[in-house]
Amino acid sequence: VVEATTHDRPAEKLGQIGVTAKSVIAVGSGKGGVGKSTIAASIAFGLRNAGCKVGLMDADVYGPSVPHLLGVNERPTAIDQRLQPIEAAGLRVMSMGFMVPAEEAVVWRGPMLHGAVTQMLRDTDWGDLDYLIIDMPPGTGDVALTLSQLLPLTGAVVVCTPQDVALLDAVKAIAMFRKVKIPLLGVVENMSTFVCPDCGSQHAIFGTGGAQRKAKELGAPFLGAAPINVDLRKRGDDGQMAGLYDDPAMAAPLMEITRGVV
Ligand code: ADP
Repeated sequence: VVEATTHDRPAEKLGQIGVTAKSVIAVGSGKGGVGKSTIAASIAFGLRNAGCKVGLMDADVYGPSVPHLLGVNERPTAIDQRLQPIEAAGLRVMSMGFMVPAEEAVVWRGPMLHGAVTQMLRDTDWGDLDYLIIDMPPGTGDVALTLSQLLPLTGAVVVCTPQDVALLDAVKAIAMFRKVKIPLLGVVENMSTFVCPDCGSQHAIFGTGGAQRKAKELGAPFLGAAPINVDLRKRGDDGQMAGLYDDPAMAAPLMEITRGVV
């Protein structure tokens, strides 16, 4: 069991908004499409495999992809006016996608985002959790600000690809978390290399090592790198993320990232 103690913050404040978790971790990125939700889900599954009780809250209003990645088709029900998270593959899952039609959310301004995130956090019956992992919307400070006001967050993980332009966005995301005083747990490099499944040769499609260099430059911990993996992409498309850790080649870098985070 991975003990949720390393970055613990006072639990009383969590209790005030009805969340009982030993540790709350936000996963963010400077822009969309870098694999933020994939890494958030893989951290959640890594912790589940280690015997922890884990909630996964998909706060990405602009592209709530967690239900799709996990193959969740149901909608949460309410008991005593509290939303019951969907139990999916051993995780307790809530998503903005359950609450708002996608075409409405894209035009939301800060106060609406604030209301929706507060509601999802407060009105959900999370039960006792060891970890709550929050998949953030990319590139906006609004939700980070809301969370920093509502919760004693343990910290944030920033996901980026090794490309120079993606790194620039990641630097902005890091600055944003620092500004709202959410501790930075570190940086994950996703899609770092591609290993040819036929011949085993490695190809640095988006470059490699950029996130690690940038993290060092900024004095941020580097939490690990996940290669481009066709099977990972297929699992996401097919809603089969729950089996991420079944394949040892895919599992090794993801588990290293999970260990880095906790
Ligand atoms: P974000 O949350 O940053 O928008 P997602 O996690 O939804 O990004 O990922 C975007 C797409 O890239 C998805 O189709 C996902 O399956 C795929 N993907 C993410 N990481 C990898 C990876 N390491 N290898 C292959 N495909 C990946």
